[in-house]
Amino acid sequence: MTAKKRVLITGAAGFLGSHLCDRFLQEGYHVIGMDNLITGDIRNIEHLYNEPAFEFIKHDVSNYVHLPGDLDYILHFASPASPIDYLKIPIQTLKVGSLGTHNLLGLAKAKKATMLIASTSEVYGDPTVHPQHEGYYGNVNPIGPRGVYDEAKRFQEAITMAYHTFHGLDIRIVRIFNTYGPRMRLNDGRVLPAFIGQALRGEDLTIFGDGSQTRSFCYVDDLIEGVFRLLHSNYVYPVNIGNPDEITIREFAEEIIKLTGTAQKIVYKPLPKDDPMQRQPDISRAREVLGWEPQVSRSEGLKITYEYFKSLPREELYRKEHNSFEGYIKR
Ligand code: UDP
Repeated sequence: MTAKKRVLITGAAGFLGSHLCDRFLQEGYHVIGMDNLITGDIRNIEHLYNEPAFEFIKHDVSNYVHLPGDLDYILHFASPASPIDYLKIPIQTLKVGSLGTHNLLGLAKAKKATMLIASTSEVYGDPTVHPQHEGYYGNVNPIGPRGVYDEAKRFQEAITMAYHTFHGLDIRIVRIFNTYGPRMRLNDGRVLPAFIGQALRGEDLTIFGDGSQTRSFCYVDDLIEGVFRLLHSNYVYPVNIGNPDEITIREFAEEIIKLTGTAQKIVYKPLPKDDPMQRQPDISRAREVLGWEPQVSRSEGLKITYEYFKSLPREELYRKEHNSFEGYIKR
């Protein structure tokens, strides 16, 4: 029997990281999950504890990463990813995208592993091109509230490409658009858990701005499939993965009201600075290179996600923040 391929997944206790752990274990890999549990939640991977092909290491990848043994792949998914998270921990956000990526690139080079980085639609900033294709260079405010995330991810792409061109490292770059599904943090501030949480608590739904801004929501299983295919391709340039089904935030709030049957109304709050007005992935590259496109419609995905949030213990609805996060933001 040949030995299992070994994959390191950073951000393993997070929303996407935990789904990736599940998928790679199902596919017969040995998975090493790493997370510092600042925004991740250990409960997302508790079901893997007795799995012999899974190990977990609590570590912050912004510090030197030591890992004995062989390694075939690194998937770098560690980062705060919600705007309110990176407003609260801006320096850590910058560090994990820059120093963290550098450490992992060094590890990948030493182990001759393939390195896949989780980039983001945020590299396009508040886009002036619509829909966004990979050749668009973006419209980012480096010193705005989102700059800490956007610029860390842009630097991450640059240093990863430099390791490819200079050291010949095998790399993959996925630009992830808004993704949703079970294991999102109910209180992470993003629009979908925010609206569903409000509906479940019997509060009004808060729309920021007039709700005319757009987003395009991809169900997590589709995203994971896209990442899996990209890793096993030999394509080293950025690939957008997301669902092109675009919707305004106002229409989205109405969909959530219908889905949850809440009697609450919509209230309007100020639009945060640099909030992108429109976002929709052009996925022609993913279609061509990976033969990938999303399979799960928003109505199907929302139903599954709503059932998940409903199944959580009621006190989760009122928990202000994830525990391990609280100590961290004290000054
Ligand atoms: N939003 C909203 N109400 C909320 C939370 C978010 O109207 O309670 C809006 C937000 O201003 C943005 C969109 O929903 O225009 C998506 O926000 P999210 O934080 O999910 O992620 P983003 O795509 O902005 O990174």
